[in-house]
Amino acid sequence: MDVSAAPARAPIENHAERLRVTVLGSTGSVGKNALDIISRDPARFDVVALVANRNVDELARQARAVGADCAVVADDTCGPDLNEALSGTDILNGAGRTAVLEAIDRPADIVVGAIVGAAGLEPTLAAMKAGRTLALANKECLVCAGGLFMGTATDLGVTVLPVDSEHNAIFQVFEAGNASEIEKIILTSSGGPFRTFSRDEMAGVSPDQALKHPNFSMGSRITIDSATMMNKGFEVIEAFHLFPVSKDQVDILVHPQQVVHGLVQYKDGSLLAQMGAPDMRTPLAHCFAWPGRMDTPVERLDLSQITALTFEKPDFDRFPTLRLAYSALAGPVGATAALNAADEIAVAAFLQRRIRFLDIPAAIEATIDALDRRGELGGAQTLDGTLAVDSIARKICTDWIAARPAP
Ligand code: NDP
Repeated sequence: MDVSAAPARAPIENHAERLRVTVLGSTGSVGKNALDIISRDPARFDVVALVANRNVDELARQARAVGADCAVVADDTCGPDLNEALSGTDILNGAGRTAVLEAIDRPADIVVGAIVGAAGLEPTLAAMKAGRTLALANKECLVCAGGLFMGTATDLGVTVLPVDSEHNAIFQVFEAGNASEIEKIILTSSGGPFRTFSRDEMAGVSPDQALKHPNFSMGSRITIDSATMMNKGFEVIEAFHLFPVSKDQVDILVHPQQVVHGLVQYKDGSLLAQMGAPDMRTPLAHCFAWPGRMDTPVERLDLSQITALTFEKPDFDRFPTLRLAYSALAGPVGATAALNAADEIAVAAFLQRRIRFLDIPAAIEATIDALDRRGELGGAQTLDGTLAVDSIARKICTDWIAARPAP
């Protein structure tokens, strides 16, 4: 059985002291939730560095509010604006790839990896190589290069704590000492806005409809991925790398109420679940305080007010992204990087109304097939190799989209 070898997790060393935190992707949905937790307990945290791409105004506001030591944008054309926005403060600032890597190198106890997409690969890996405990939201790191990431974590003794709510839920009920007694892990899914739609109904949906997630407010990429259910496919790959389970021990259940976030089935028949209001501040606080707990303002569940918790199997025919994800996970090493790259391109094209909703899985499948035929998905997993697959997949997918008649 091909079982992933998730590393042992060591507690954050100076846990009793103030926690020094760096947030990659601080201006995004996860980043803002992380800073919300941090701002509510200033005696507990020191903010070392905040990193964003281009959103200078929000980054500068955040850096001032939390008294960050340093703030950096990845896009070097935004450097002068950031410098101007932080004038009159002693907050160090910079722009561009080198500045991002220098910010990551500043001593911190934990780095929140919340950049979106494959753009997060290099910076998140750099944080790991610097020996930082990772609170990982950027699932694309594990989708694109999970073997490389978790192998590096094991080699360096770096702890990776899952922020993604389903994986954090499973982490909370996964008895690491009893891993061999586990039958399967189960990720729940809201089913997204089109849970009850037929394929015909999905054919005509607009970006605005797809951007209405039933329970969470998130960045646009992950919201569309939730509507196609590719997000759940990514999470299957993510779970395989985070936990010592085989590919066929990761299941999905559609659970529209989103009260139960993840479950672990043990061989004695026990099914352990984590429940809570759908709010990313719970998993973030869990990572910050782990192996302890900390206060959050998250709404408490009142189970007496919940009339029904329902669960159903996902429909692989209406949501072919699930089949694509399982098949990429079982395929050659580069297949999951191609899966992610093609999805990034296809989702962006859908948001720009250049393709239809159902073209998203079609574009991804065509891209992976083309790469496979060209023999470009094999080989060992390295950062350069992953970035090469990512780049070719983007080109193939872009060409496939350009050849489509406009919707
Ligand atoms: P958003 O789109 O809201 O935010 C993305 C963040 O990444 C922004 O801060 C953006 O900066 C930054 N960024 C983008 N490109 C770069 C780059 N090249 N270098 C540095 N920073 C960059 O995304 P989310 O917060 O929704 O998601 C972040 C990650 O967390 C994704 O991988 C997602 O799958 C995962 N996740 C998200 C959840 C959620 O509830 N949103 C739940 C679980 C996982 P700027 O603002 O300047 O563009």
